[in-house]
Amino acid sequence: MKNITILGATGSIGDSALSVIALHPDKFNVFALSANTNWQKMQILCEKFQPKFVVMMDESAIEELSKVTSNNIEILHGAEALDTIASHNEVDFVMAAIVGSAGMSSSLAAAKAGKRIMLANKESLVLAGNLFMQAVHDNNAELIPVDSEHSAIFQCLQSGKSGLSKIQLTASGGPFLHTPIEQLKTITPDEACAHPNWSMGRKISVDSATMMNKGLEVIEAHYLFNLPAEKISVVIHPQSIIHSSTYYEDGSTLSQLGNPDMRTVIAYALSYPSRMASGVAPLDLAGNSPLEFYAPDLNKFVCLRLAFDALKQGGNAMGTLNAANEVAVEHFLNHKIGFLEIANIVERTLDTVQNTSAASLEAIIANDKTARKTAQRIINA
Ligand code: NAD
Ligand code: MG
Repeated sequence: MKNITILGATGSIGDSALSVIALHPDKFNVFALSANTNWQKMQILCEKFQPKFVVMMDESAIEELSKVTSNNIEILHGAEALDTIASHNEVDFVMAAIVGSAGMSSSLAAAKAGKRIMLANKESLVLAGNLFMQAVHDNNAELIPVDSEHSAIFQCLQSGKSGLSKIQLTASGGPFLHTPIEQLKTITPDEACAHPNWSMGRKISVDSATMMNKGLEVIEAHYLFNLPAEKISVVIHPQSIIHSSTYYEDGSTLSQLGNPDMRTVIAYALSYPSRMASGVAPLDLAGNSPLEFYAPDLNKFVCLRLAFDALKQGGNAMGTLNAANEVAVEHFLNHKIGFLEIANIVERTLDTVQNTSAASLEAIIANDKTARKTAQRIINA
């Protein structure tokens, strides 16, 4: 029996993880859950999974939740408590599924405690890739990607990297793949969040529409698989059936395929190196034809180009890219800025904030703050 902590339990990945776990009560026990503010949903999860600990970020949510949950569940508050449930000595597996840079500290805590980290929070690697990978290595933690592309590559690389010439991340191209740039100006948050294949949280849905998500994933892949930017490519594949591919010197290419459903990825992360049922239907290849592929248009999807540039610059440039994007996406979701302004704000923030070394957590957090302030100033101007 493995004890599991789910950070970000009320989100889209949290939902999928709990639905896979519920299929295997003989293998997994929900030890701790966390959420930001949604105590109503947490109440339902507590009744169903009876965790030992719950962490809420919002104090009033704790008050409400304490009134309605059993005394056997200990309810904790704040970022330090996230680190506690991520590193608790009774925990075996940690699902890191908080959205944004708010997930970095607890992912790192799980790495330092030598846990199996099922990493959905790609921002941990974008901000602190070197520190994070070092912590995984030094503490014998196990890092299993929970991102469909990276899980695909992880699966393709099971027999090693011999003869590997490049990896290729597939991208759906989002809801605006065929929309002319002129029409992108007036896109609403709901239109941007209506992803054709994947059902996800609103922030990552907007990132998919701008293709910043793919940019963050290129950076994520760089750290996970220890490959330079030149060996990471992106191809648009609107059907999201091929999840990613590895290319070899001998002309061979391996791909992992499946229906676009994160439960497959999560089941693999939970059962690795074995496999187990996820609740996902088998793939019907004939029913999904034709599978299409296109090269990404970097003039239209500026965010993808900016992410490649930031990776090549190194240091805190990737953290700056991420911080500016988080601020810009939040403003877009709140109807404060237009869709096309997201890339513009990220680019101007990258041009303004001086790139520094990401050698310490303090430096990374300080840069994150500076980049957020700068992006905010650019928006206000
Ligand atoms: P979501 O918005 O649906 O859920 C986010 C979760 O994080 C919620 O439980 C929320 O309560 C919690 N949270 C939000 N802000 C927080 C804060 N400041 N402090 C602590 N907790 C906070 O997001 P999601 O779609 O589930 O994505 C989660 C992560 O997984 C993201 O990093 C995303 O990039 C990654 N991811 C998601 C998918 C997907 O299919 N949804 C696929 C690959 C990777
Ligand atoms: Mg992905």
